[in-house]
Amino acid sequence: MRLWARTILLGSCLLAAALPTAARGSAAGNQAATADYYQRLLAGPQPQLAELSLLMTLMPKGGDLHHHYVGAVYAETYLDWAEQQGYCLYRTELTIETKPAQTAAGKECLPIAAVRMDSNLYRQVLMRWSTQDYDKPGHDQPPPDMQFFNSFEYFGAVGNHYQPGLQQLKARAKAENLQYIESMLASAPKIDKSYKAAVIDRLNTLPPAVDDATLQTVLDEYHDYLAHSEAFQKKIDTYLAEQHANVAGIDDADFTLRLQSYTNRSNPPATVFSGLYSAFVSVQRDPLFVGVNLLGPENGPVAMRDYDLHMRMLRYLKQKYPATPLSLHAGELAMGMVPPEGLRDHIRNAVAVAGAKRIGHGVDIAHEQAPYAILKQLREKDIAVEVNLSSNAIILGILGEAHPVNLYLRQHVPVVIATDDAGVARSSISNEYLLFASRYKPGYAQLKRVVYDSIRLSFLSPADKAAQRKALDARFAAFEATVAGIAKNK
Ligand SMILES: [Zn+2]
Repeated sequence: MRLWARTILLGSCLLAAALPTAARGSAAGNQAATADYYQRLLAGPQPQLAELSLLMTLMPKGGDLHHHYVGAVYAETYLDWAEQQGYCLYRTELTIETKPAQTAAGKECLPIAAVRMDSNLYRQVLMRWSTQDYDKPGHDQPPPDMQFFNSFEYFGAVGNHYQPGLQQLKARAKAENLQYIESMLASAPKIDKSYKAAVIDRLNTLPPAVDDATLQTVLDEYHDYLAHSEAFQKKIDTYLAEQHANVAGIDDADFTLRLQSYTNRSNPPATVFSGLYSAFVSVQRDPLFVGVNLLGPENGPVAMRDYDLHMRMLRYLKQKYPATPLSLHAGELAMGMVPPEGLRDHIRNAVAVAGAKRIGHGVDIAHEQAPYAILKQLREKDIAVEVNLSSNAIILGILGEAHPVNLYLRQHVPVVIATDDAGVARSSISNEYLLFASRYKPGYAQLKRVVYDSIRLSFLSPADKAAQRKALDARFAAFEATVAGIAKNK
């Protein structure tokens, strides 16, 4: 036990030099000893969860490729920021307000310090501002996906505080031996009402099943308009400059951050297209941006109605900007959330129509038509599925053997483990690996492959990828030397 305790203190440093010489064997020997020890923790009717948790915390985890900044920050941090800004919190609504002086009778707005002193109220805030205790008795239960997405409304009023937030996430990543995050930090600029109404109306009123030729004409016109709108181009440049200011000083020798630009699928078609356009342009113009995403609740009425149209918009933009990597939220659905027809082709179309290089979630694969053809395509095109276990359990109620992660692995589809919204889900990248290892029991070689794929299938440039891969090799060598030394004494 003492040796384990010392390993915790070593934290993410994991320096082999800090270990007794006797603990360091050959790299192959250390890997075999680590694999053996890992298998012993998984053996038996119940995995040794506490030791496995420790192991997963120490293990190098490469990159987190499905990461939303605003959902990654914990509610406690948003409360800190609310306090720094002098906000107060309404006891009943659990919302915050800037000016506590003018409160109506019965609407008590408390300083944040007072909220912290009231343990019952503080707990209620955490339960409303995240999914804490969602499955425990005493939690008033909205539908789980609404609980998840509604929480953003509460802490959203605090503001994003990118610089301190990213520093906190970086420190957390380092403590967990995570070297790279590919984050969805801020949405790409989109068109607003002040732009040319006629162009917007034409796209917004297209029938969902519009023929390709008509769609091409309308998108050409709209694309041309956006490309030549000085105001819109200025908006994109401002966005790029803002994101550079937000991430200033974040990269160092042990940590790298890159961004995906994205837009929300719940908006009208012209708004979505303008957001996608500026997301593509961001990747073209600026190496800080490495990919494009499309997000928002997939089961929403607009998202469902326009899903195919969005895939066709992406195909159009991909033809114009072919080098732009896409990761698309697709198949974040479960039986009963939408009519069965809605589960049949989202993953397929994200790949076949839009040209996605990675799929976010991919949970409804078993309900797709021709699933084996899609699995074959994912395998042959080396398209990774980003698996977000806590998020899927909360939003979709899909966990345990109902989750398709093993289906993907058995079909040799690359899988990466990611967090989605670790703050809202009250999780961490280590905890996601613990869920993966303890529930699905991948062998050590497979577990390592999943970690390495989080660098190999990231959207980093080839040179950055090679550097990250080299760093990951060194981290694993140190980790395995540590574990081999300790396992020997067990
Ligand atoms: Zn997501």
